[in-house]
Order: sequence, then C-alpha cells, then structure tokens
Amino acid sequence: MSDFNWCHGPNCHKKHTIDRVRGVKGSKVLRTRKVKHHHNNHWYSYFCSQGCYDDFANIHIHDLLAIAPRTECQETPINDPEKDTQSYWNNWIIKVDETRQS
Ligand SMILES: [Zn+2]
Repeated sequence: MSDFNWCHGPNCHKKHTIDRVRGVKGSKVLRTRKVKHHHNNHWYSYFCSQGCYDDFANIHIHDLLAIAPRTECQETPINDPEKDTQSYWNNWIIKVDETRQS
C-alpha cells in the first residue's frame, strides 16, 4: 500500500496556496495535494483538509447516504437525567443504562 494518497477533494487543485504550485517557470500548475496515508479509515488519510472533505461529501452526499441509509432513529437507553448540583452551569448528568443495552 502506498504511503500517500492524492487528496480526493474535487477542488483541491483549484485552491490558491503556494504549496500546491508545481512545474517549471512559465509552465506552473496548481496540483492536488498529497496526503499522508495513516493506514486507518479516517478521512484525513484521504483529504488534505476539512474543506476538501466537505467539498467531496457535498457533491457525493446521496451516494454516501445510499451506502448506509438511516430509515429509523436510533436510541441509547439512559438513566433518568440528574441535575448536576456541583456545577455552576446548568448541567445535567446523563448516564447510559448499561442494563438496557441491546
Ligand atoms: Zn485537498
């Protein structure tokens, strides 16, 4: 497996930053950034920035959702929330009810 990927951002090569400039004088280009592959499934192994990730997701959102559609809500069983009397802020203590985990 290669140690880098080309950023998958559809507009990565159009962003005006000096680190993207490549080529010889008189024939310069803006090039897609290389991204270090961290050998995991995190987005930052495939995109150089949150902006490039967002650009990709916004273009391909329907294809992405089709991979794992959410047709029903999900729920996490919790105990009754308790007001945190130790906190200055209006915080609530919310704990997962492990006895009701499916
Ligand atoms: Zn990028």
